[in-house]
Amino acid sequence: MKTNNPFLYSDDNKRYHTWNYYLRHQFGKKVAKVPLDGGFTCPNRDGTCGTGGCTFCTRSGSGEFAGDRAEPLLSQYAKGQAMMRHKWPDADFIPYFQAYTNTYGPLSKIQDCLTPFLDRPEVAAIAIATRADCLEQEKIDWLAQCCAKKEIWLELGVQSVHDRTARQIHRGHDYAQVVETVTRLVRTPLKICVHLINGLPGEDAAMMLETACQINQLPIHAVKLHMLHLMQDTQLADAYMQQPFPLLTRDEYVAIVVDQLERLRPEIIIQRLTGDGAGEALIAPEWTKKKTIVLNEIDKRMANLNTWQGKLVSNGR
Ligand code: SF4
Repeated sequence: MKTNNPFLYSDDNKRYHTWNYYLRHQFGKKVAKVPLDGGFTCPNRDGTCGTGGCTFCTRSGSGEFAGDRAEPLLSQYAKGQAMMRHKWPDADFIPYFQAYTNTYGPLSKIQDCLTPFLDRPEVAAIAIATRADCLEQEKIDWLAQCCAKKEIWLELGVQSVHDRTARQIHRGHDYAQVVETVTRLVRTPLKICVHLINGLPGEDAAMMLETACQINQLPIHAVKLHMLHLMQDTQLADAYMQQPFPLLTRDEYVAIVVDQLERLRPEIIIQRLTGDGAGEALIAPEWTKKKTIVLNEIDKRMANLNTWQGKLVSNGR
């Protein structure tokens, strides 16, 4: 069968362009991310654009799996690396600056954090979680220079393209800011991954599909899709416990994700289709704890519908 998805019938890919497929083909081996805490904070927490943070954000700055910020970065990295090596003895690594906003602060701090990793032979790439309003041009220019040594991924928290939702979740910037920053990034060799959340309060399926369609128009390289996790001690979980609001069921989530994949260009790498909610701190929804089942259901639905990533993307996009 002929499709507009060039990856679909490659022997080792799914009906969407998986991150593992990309890494194996790009680096020729298993590559694992090591989550780190570089000791950053966030403008949405320190009062620059907000104090309480995004309503879903945890005390660790959504860095549940990152190392301990009290430890030096290289020792966090060594511990993470040792854990991964148990499972994948020959793997290479991606130090992943996960907690908080990792380009917020002086350029010298970012340089201090990244420089020790630029010459390490087992480091395949570096990933940096950040916000669209924390990428001033001098930082972009320095990070772009680093691409001569390592592949550098910027992971931008976007969550939704709808400004009404952004205001409700206290995001602290609008979608126009995302478009402006991506427009500057695209002139560089930096890779761009966009994070989106499905199931945010006030959003219906049509709004989530609109987010996928608009993100598809941006010159990005990858997407992470997450279900909304209500985590202990977050504003959203507190509101939910006072007055529960509807959350997506697993079937609804699976159907929305498949519909979104059909609307994303086939070359966009899908780094995630469901998040790892930190077990005990998760208030709801319970079904997100069974990540493998969610992924299997997505595969099954795509096969049953005989659909694939990009199926509904026209050539004019
Ligand atoms: S931008 Fe990231 S770190 Fe900052 S409050 Fe929002 S989710 Fe948390």
